[in-house]
Amino acid sequence: MSRFEPNLRIPGPTGLPPSVREVGARQMINHRSPDFAAILARIQAGMKPYFGTTGDIGILSCAGTGGLEAAVVNVLSPGDRVLGVSIGSFGDRFAKIAEVYGADVDRIAAEWGWAAEPAEVRERLGGADYKAVLLTHNETSTGVMNPVAELAAAIRETAPDALILVDSVSGLGAVPFEMDAWGCDVVVTGSQKAWMAAPGMAMVAASDRAWTAMETATMPRFYLDLRKHRDAGAGGETPWTPAIAVAFQVDEGLRLMEVETPAGVFARHAACAAATRAGLEAMGFRLFADPAHRSETVTAAWLPDGLDWKTFNTALKAQDLVLAGGQGKLAGKVFRVGHLGSVTTGEILEAIATIESVSIDLGLPVTAGSGVAAAERAAAETLHARQVHTAGASGQVTVGAARPG
Ligand code: PLP
Repeated sequence: MSRFEPNLRIPGPTGLPPSVREVGARQMINHRSPDFAAILARIQAGMKPYFGTTGDIGILSCAGTGGLEAAVVNVLSPGDRVLGVSIGSFGDRFAKIAEVYGADVDRIAAEWGWAAEPAEVRERLGGADYKAVLLTHNETSTGVMNPVAELAAAIRETAPDALILVDSVSGLGAVPFEMDAWGCDVVVTGSQKAWMAAPGMAMVAASDRAWTAMETATMPRFYLDLRKHRDAGAGGETPWTPAIAVAFQVDEGLRLMEVETPAGVFARHAACAAATRAGLEAMGFRLFADPAHRSETVTAAWLPDGLDWKTFNTALKAQDLVLAGGQGKLAGKVFRVGHLGSVTTGEILEAIATIESVSIDLGLPVTAGSGVAAAERAAAETLHARQVHTAGASGQVTVGAARPG
């Protein structure tokens, strides 16, 4: 007997809650209608607190990479000096996009597994005339979450006029983010990550300074021109035909997140992350990321000596657990567990149990029950520390209420 649906534990696309799937199957509506305008308005209003902005958010129908491209082409001109701060594969991609469009890109490349160092960014910016700095909030390839507040403060201090462009495709919605307070200028996220929806939409927020830069930037742009999105948005529309089914889903995902409250959403992600790390470590897996900057949405762990990814993955898939392998230079060296979106601690415990039994089957020195016990303890401690308790089959969390018993 199979689980019917695999436990999809990759760092996006994520499994969808039933109500999100159902709205995705709804009949099409006119995208130039009050009904669609209301959906766009709800998405805008629902997303703003997660971005930490009061500004407009462009709702683009494209992958997250399209959102990154929009960030670059809207505020930069060919020849502009740009500092690409990369801590992994997606940081490299962001820098590459700027380069392809003609920016003069210098790079800071942290060793994979480590966060960017504010002191190094400060040093590189000093005296140089950079138009923009590219940051990755959550580096999905390594499972590292950058300290964006500290990095942005370092940039503001050293290069007050530099635009700060942030890839938060796999971070936003899962952890607190304060775009306005931190002084970020363009922030990008994607529907298939923390937002519990299918792929197909990128949300891009811009600061006043970024909107001003758009008026003089000369990189070519048409489909991704954020000014067209802003102008159409003022009338409750998108400039081009939007991914309506994905909009239905993002709207429903945000409704579920509102019921849970942002604090509940963040606590659930923290508990799932803590459970994943503790479970893997208790089984003897070595985590990849620097402990000070581990991601709340994805955990990468080294494959032990002698265990090859193909064999491990085949055995895991046979037990209906879908993990991600390593990307780029980490292919065949690490595996990654996604814990974002509609993830529950129950799903993580199940994933850890599967990894445990497969590891034992494959002859790894793992004690039965060790991973699950550690994961369960870590989840409970994390939720307890945040005054959260879970209720109901969905694992829905409530925050601040008295703990039963
Ligand atoms: N940036 C980060 C940090 C990501 O994790 C991803 C996707 O995994 C992307 C960018 C690209 O998003 P997409 O695959 O939707 O283009």
